[in-house]
Amino acid sequence: MMSEKRIKRLRRSLLARGLDGALIFGPENRFYFSGFWAEDLGCTESSGCLLITRDENFLLTDGRYEEQARREAKGFNVQIYKRGLKGLLKRLFGELEIKRCGLEGNYISYFRAKSIKGAFPKIKWVELSGISERMRSVKDKEEIERIRASQRVNEEVFEEVLSKIRVGMSEKELSFMILKGLMERADGPSFPTIVASGPNSSLPHAVPTDRRIRKHEPVIIDMGARLHGYCSDMTRTVFLEGPDKEFKKIYEIVKDAQKRAKEMIRAGITARKADSFSRDYITEKGLGKYFMHSLGHGVGIAIHEAPALSKRNRKKLKAGMVITIEPGIYLPGKGGVRLEDMAVVKEDGVEVITSKKWFYEF
Ligand code: ZN
Ligand code: ZN
Repeated sequence: MMSEKRIKRLRRSLLARGLDGALIFGPENRFYFSGFWAEDLGCTESSGCLLITRDENFLLTDGRYEEQARREAKGFNVQIYKRGLKGLLKRLFGELEIKRCGLEGNYISYFRAKSIKGAFPKIKWVELSGISERMRSVKDKEEIERIRASQRVNEEVFEEVLSKIRVGMSEKELSFMILKGLMERADGPSFPTIVASGPNSSLPHAVPTDRRIRKHEPVIIDMGARLHGYCSDMTRTVFLEGPDKEFKKIYEIVKDAQKRAKEMIRAGITARKADSFSRDYITEKGLGKYFMHSLGHGVGIAIHEAPALSKRNRKKLKAGMVITIEPGIYLPGKGGVRLEDMAVVKEDGVEVITSKKWFYEF
């Protein structure tokens, strides 16, 4: 089983830090190592954690998840807490003689982390955030297949929606159609769908409104499926009856900026370098200040995960990472264009896994 290999790697990294155990709280990390899928209802309501020790794997959760945990977390010792996690930890830490313990602080509230640490003053706590995420950023073959499958379904839904989109439809109607498609064909959306028309499309993270779509204006559709635990993410900008002259130009620039990045990105370059391929081009065209987000992000069990393809990230890209390449130009009050594809990073380039369809050729 894949998860055994992953746990082995994690354990090596824990041993290298001199830890006797680690509490893995991140829902995506829990799934990655154990196969147990449960979403947290927020940072104040966790559905459990893994306790990985030098030679044992525990899944600690509450009664609501018992049946699911036993079914999904194969090879894990499932322990149910009735009166909170701390009581159970007290027993386990004693039995297992844990003295140095890692904890993922980036998924639980400050209050909760403080309360857990405070309950065990003799234990030396070590912050673990980022370790599981680094492992997850490089995908194995099976994961890449799942992302591909998720994207295939995403494209089927997009194709269907595209055939139904008409002038006068509202952004909400359109996003509801997408949601319905993603629920029917996949396990639902991987993030809240963005449908942004006309001036609304100048907001990179717009929320669908009652605004009705008009002809010639940009409509940004950013959508993704979740399938078998894995996400997809794609953006296309469409114009009913074609764009006007200004947006034709903007569209061409975004398309060329994306093409550059696709041609230049490969393993071994830094994430910030990757970001610069599109950014420098858009800047050369005098529109740099209208591209105000980073070029892309990793996609996997989480919709946004490592690596961030941003100006600030000096880490190198590795073969096997799955990233998005999504430049955009957003003109305040007028509208925007964004084009987003997913790609697998390889030693000598990238393999784009999103369909080449739905780009305008002028
Ligand atoms: Zn997207
Ligand atoms: Zn994205």
